[in-house]
Amino acid sequence: MLNLPTRERAILDSINHDRMLEQVQSWAAINSGSNNLPGLASTAQLLVDAFSTLPGELALIDPEPVEKVLSDGAIETVKHGQHLLLTVRPEARTQHLFTGHMDTVFPADHSFQDQRWLDDGILNGPGVADMKGGIAVMLAALQAAEKLPDFSQVGYQVLINSDEEVGSPSSASLIAQIAQHKLAALTYEPALPDGTLAGERGGSGNFSIIITGKSAHAGRNPQDGRNALLAAADLALRLKALTREGLSVNPAKIEGGSPNNVVPDHAILRVNFRPRTPQIVTDTESVFRQLVADIEHEHEVSAHVHGSFGRPPKPIDAGAAKLFDLVKRCGAELGLPIAWKSSGGVCDGNNIAACGVPVVDTMGVRGGNIHSSDEFLITESLVERARLSALTIMRIAAKGTL
Ligand SMILES: [Zn+2]
Repeated sequence: MLNLPTRERAILDSINHDRMLEQVQSWAAINSGSNNLPGLASTAQLLVDAFSTLPGELALIDPEPVEKVLSDGAIETVKHGQHLLLTVRPEARTQHLFTGHMDTVFPADHSFQDQRWLDDGILNGPGVADMKGGIAVMLAALQAAEKLPDFSQVGYQVLINSDEEVGSPSSASLIAQIAQHKLAALTYEPALPDGTLAGERGGSGNFSIIITGKSAHAGRNPQDGRNALLAAADLALRLKALTREGLSVNPAKIEGGSPNNVVPDHAILRVNFRPRTPQIVTDTESVFRQLVADIEHEHEVSAHVHGSFGRPPKPIDAGAAKLFDLVKRCGAELGLPIAWKSSGGVCDGNNIAACGVPVVDTMGVRGGNIHSSDEFLITESLVERARLSALTIMRIAAKGTL
């Protein structure tokens, strides 16, 4: 930090720990589980207040309608919360994207709602690391960067969605839209406790296959029936057999069936795919379609496929490698060793990378045990990561390129 130019150092020194911690604690005090619409609305309002300290235009964007296949095969529309979108200097030549999510995995009736100190500087609480802490880091970094005169040449958008923890179904098209023409993106998922970032990420696809057969009496005329449960089971086995290097397949659930004396005419198979590369996604999509057609033909049933590869794989391409190197160099200047390793998890960084935009998606706090009641935030990382982020942003701004 000592070798930084005076002006940059002064800006980074202005990042205030107490204010950031206060933000995290007040945001985490409100439950914002992905399905808690009132909680999400209150959280969105707090975030609007906080982000209105930045220039630009703030808007709350309505979620896209999302369909869910119920266990009886009926399709229901699921409601999500609004997404916060800030647009700053859209006329500027270089444009960046910053993303985070306001939702957590903890529903309103979950036992984990309160915060407590586990130790000096270790805060336990729902969403403190994933990612209310990350949102505080993003805001502090942008407030700092705004103090740099060069930054007035830079435009950016901030998206804080309300449905990341359930796969961003109501914000995926918004993400794809605002990722267009961005030079780089930073996403504020937590880093590991030792500061290691997530590099390459595999993808994920969730599907529900609704199978309709024909019911008949199990004793009197079983030959007239078309067993949907059997077709679903057969499909589950064939899909599982697609497992190979770079692709895991998890047939997770079969719903449906009928009383013992009836040939079942209805079943739903739920399956998750984890492809490691975009090519595997393409290959899997076509084999999957073929297998479903085979099942329809051989079992004389009809099948309706619902779902998608909502999280495309995120390889580290040349652009992403440059961005990682830049973050690493900025870390070195601040005395922070920055390393990254591949992750089995998925996040909005997957969707941003799929648009061809270089992204580092774990620019948030250091913390751990996320998605559990033991989630913790290492509070000294608030300022540390905000400085890292601010310096990275300022360096890209000064250079105008990666
Ligand atoms: Zn997260």
